[in-house]
Amino acid sequence: MAAWFKRSGKPLKSEQRRDIPDGVWIKCKSCGDTLFKTELMRQKQICKSCGYHFLLPSEEYFKLLLDLDSWTEHDAKVTSVDTLGFKDTLKYSDRIVKYTKKSGLSDAIRCVSGRLDDKPVELAVMDFAFMGGSVGSVVGEKISRSIKRAIQNKTPLIIVSCSGGMRMQEGIFSLMQMAKVSTALVTLSRAKLPFISILTNPTTGGTTASFSMLGDLNISEPGALIGFAGPRVIKQTIGQDLPPGFQSAEFLLDHGFLDMIVKRTDMKPKLSNLLSILTPRE
Ligand SMILES: [Zn+2]
Repeated sequence: MAAWFKRSGKPLKSEQRRDIPDGVWIKCKSCGDTLFKTELMRQKQICKSCGYHFLLPSEEYFKLLLDLDSWTEHDAKVTSVDTLGFKDTLKYSDRIVKYTKKSGLSDAIRCVSGRLDDKPVELAVMDFAFMGGSVGSVVGEKISRSIKRAIQNKTPLIIVSCSGGMRMQEGIFSLMQMAKVSTALVTLSRAKLPFISILTNPTTGGTTASFSMLGDLNISEPGALIGFAGPRVIKQTIGQDLPPGFQSAEFLLDHGFLDMIVKRTDMKPKLSNLLSILTPRE
């Protein structure tokens, strides 16, 4: 009987697998379309099928918003210090080393002086690749220095936000950055210099509760998640269901929290136009 079940021939060979190198394709988080990574970067990280805006590295924002080779970076080597000796699953000091290696950045923001359609600007761009764009002492200090430079050089300030909120590993030192940057922005306002805040996906937590919402103009990229506390926390607090689209850029625009939504690829001409209106002529 057992002979009936004996395999006589060679086993069938499975179809030869085509090797696809890791990290070549990415699935769109919004429409599920499969996108070629290189092509996606060429499209400024915007899904060609549905327009979803993926994260864009800080370096790409400089290329997107500023004139070619027109910028100089400041404070590129400023790094965080583990003042509290904080440890969660990892020591904060080790976490800093890990993210510096992984992202090639010294912290979650990069600040430059540059030119946008030949108009001088101070531009600070947050980068989600470093600890989820969390705001600690370095981010606060670098923005404050950008504001000082803007006042010194009489130029407008643009901040591109992309952040999960304050950096809990720095405790109160991180929370103090909200007040520090907000106060510095008052000095910019007193100097009658414009501050344009650009909110990208996501801009949440204390970042929204401070500088990201303090722009003379608050502009968002389409579909960005913008909010202070997460929807689950709010739902529990108010004991009510939240309306559809809650905390999306589109919802916030409808309810007067944003001035406009601008597609990433239209951002430079839009900013150029706004700066011409906001900046007094010579
Ligand atoms: Zn898509």
